[in-house]
Amino acid sequence: MTEENRNSETVYSFKCPSCELGTINVVKSIYDLSDGDQMLIIKFECDHCSFHKNDVIPLTTNTEPGLKTLKVTNEEDLKSKIYRSPVGKLEIPELEVMVEPGPRADFYYTNVEGILYRFESAVLIYRNSLEEGDPEIPGIEEILNNLSKALVGKFEFTLKITDFGGGSYIIPKDKSKYKFEKLETEESE
Ligand SMILES: [Zn+2]
Repeated sequence: MTEENRNSETVYSFKCPSCELGTINVVKSIYDLSDGDQMLIIKFECDHCSFHKNDVIPLTTNTEPGLKTLKVTNEEDLKSKIYRSPVGKLEIPELEVMVEPGPRADFYYTNVEGILYRFESAVLIYRNSLEEGDPEIPGIEEILNNLSKALVGKFEFTLKITDFGGGSYIIPKDKSKYKFEKLETEESE
């Protein structure tokens, strides 16, 4: 199979979570395959330790601007791949959690399970910052409880990515649970 590397660009860099000394560069490359298809390779590589990770995404994946929705009802759905571009907003209404657009490495590229873990640790940090007796605590405890059920596929929810700039995507394990909706672009006038 002849592959031609069309263009490589470093799209993002962040501190290595493994050695905490190096920098991880996220490099995006598009390959033209001999059969006419195109693949997008996303490579994570630390310049200091051996940490690395590759992911291959077929370019038939929809990265158009719009609203992408995934229904998550079982453990298998947790393996669906998620990429939130820096201009994308990610939210799970049933769990009252959201990531606003912005370059946060944590939510950059992962699967549904990875997203739940990150929300869980963020909510825990918030919970622990509250004074005992704070009226917010019961609500937060409920969110934590639902998050831990969601992590084992026992809580149904909807993951939504709203992206006016494009680039974000969801690769569902079960295509019937995925929905894409074009959105009118934000009016500038
Ligand atoms: Zn490293």
